[in-house]
Amino acid sequence: MAVCSSQHCDLIGNAYPRCRSCPSYANCETSRSRNSFRKYLAFPLSQVRLLKSPFAEAVEANRKYVLAHDPDRLLAPFLREAGLNPKKEPYPNWKSQGLDGHTAGHYLSALADMIAAGNDTDGEMGRRLDYMLLELERVQKANGDGYLGGLPGSRDFWPIIVAGDTGKIWSKWAPWYNLHKMFAGLRDSTIAAEKPKARELLIKFGDWCVNTTSGLTDAQMQGMLSNEYGGMNEVMADIYAMTGDKKYLDTAERFNHRSFFEPLLRGEDKVTGLHANTQIPKIIGLERIATLTGNERQDSAARFFWDTVVKHRTVAFGGNSVSEHFNDPTDFHPMLESREGPETCNTYNMLRLTEQLFATKPEASYVDYYERALYNHILSTIDSETPGYVYFTPIRPEHYRVYSQPEQSFWCCVGTGMENPGRYGQFIYARAKEGIYVNLFIPSELRTSDGLTLRQENNFPSEQTTHLSLKLQKPSNFALYIRHPQWVPEGKLTVRVNGKVVPISSKPPSYAMVRHQWRDGDKVDVDLPMRITVERLPDKSNWAAILYTLLEILSDGAW
Ligand SMILES: [Zn+2]
Repeated sequence: MAVCSSQHCDLIGNAYPRCRSCPSYANCETSRSRNSFRKYLAFPLSQVRLLKSPFAEAVEANRKYVLAHDPDRLLAPFLREAGLNPKKEPYPNWKSQGLDGHTAGHYLSALADMIAAGNDTDGEMGRRLDYMLLELERVQKANGDGYLGGLPGSRDFWPIIVAGDTGKIWSKWAPWYNLHKMFAGLRDSTIAAEKPKARELLIKFGDWCVNTTSGLTDAQMQGMLSNEYGGMNEVMADIYAMTGDKKYLDTAERFNHRSFFEPLLRGEDKVTGLHANTQIPKIIGLERIATLTGNERQDSAARFFWDTVVKHRTVAFGGNSVSEHFNDPTDFHPMLESREGPETCNTYNMLRLTEQLFATKPEASYVDYYERALYNHILSTIDSETPGYVYFTPIRPEHYRVYSQPEQSFWCCVGTGMENPGRYGQFIYARAKEGIYVNLFIPSELRTSDGLTLRQENNFPSEQTTHLSLKLQKPSNFALYIRHPQWVPEGKLTVRVNGKVVPISSKPPSYAMVRHQWRDGDKVDVDLPMRITVERLPDKSNWAAILYTLLEILSDGAW
């Protein structure tokens, strides 16, 4: 990856407007990939380390689960489709029922994020990632046209699509959805794990996508988009952000599903009954394009979608959908009765969308949702003692959950499930214009490129205070923006700097700004008084969740 030599830029995490004024900006790959691409407000995963907490325990469980898989078995469908001899048998379940190859893409993302987050304690994940990229390079060379897919019958299938018979997309199990996972895995390997080989593979694969779709009419393209396609618009926009080549942006926009987007652009909620996880990644792609092009209408549509899902279709623990579909916001009865409650993939994708929306509009209300869904849904989808992931999280009273087993289960939610723990540190902190947002109260340590170490420790939520300490090479004046969550009433949030209470004027949800001339060894204690509250379902029926602060402790019964 090109490295910026400009003294205006320290490469990591700097504010986008500073890059804009840089004389090297026009040709600066670092700017596009680090700032525009990786969201300018986010700190890279490599700068955040988790400390002891249930999140760190889940990371260790995830490491074991990921390493329990054989890369050669994950790669077998790719070698087969390229006419090469697979080294091992492919895995069963969804990996041999038509969606062959999809987990390998998730696996790359999981490895890349876990490595970046400092969880590759013995180097094995790094070795596996390098090995898989080498094997995928061999596959891509054998294919000859940049293709990298495990879809059964690929060689016969894609020429049919190129010829314009796009109705045949339904003859396979979600072909673009499947391929999107490999695109995303290569992107994450490029950005999070900084693997140049992944970038080469990704761009060649992107060229294959451009060539495959460029001859299709808009009608053919739109007809094809009724079939689940993951976030193809997002990854093509990502390649545009990395390369600056507009052909990738044009292709990204061709993956915008107009019949789904148009009501949202008009501010109309037509999502009831739609397959939830088909739609959420499309919106992530729409917002990605809007961020790159400055399209405010598209940005508004993405925010409207987020509102419809979070405010009207989400239950207390942050999940949405029943049997994978968006429920009627006036009737949660089906969700209460179904064995198939909120799906993990949906919340994984809603968190990614929330990060994107926050990046251009940093409001604490986005973090309130994120915190609720991360603690109550995402963290609960992995069993730390016997590693495995859940697909559905039913809210049916006295019901149970089913956990996956390594090498046996290859559901979609296993794929997103193995990605989640590597991303726990993604949103704890964010860079503000003149300071740092403290978004989440997860024990962790942030080390910025300009020499600040911000350490956060607590026994949250068993205790009601989080403790921050700063290490600095020299005194520095900046603001800590400490999130005042919705669940702490106005006037109840207390901030002490080196033991002395400082005046703050925040209202929930917002940020308490603490500007200070910080010195090495300074300490900040934040009191977050906790309480029990009751929250009804959005349909206002006689069902309620009982919450302790943000944590759901019971979801039960008529009242
Ligand atoms: Zn899923």
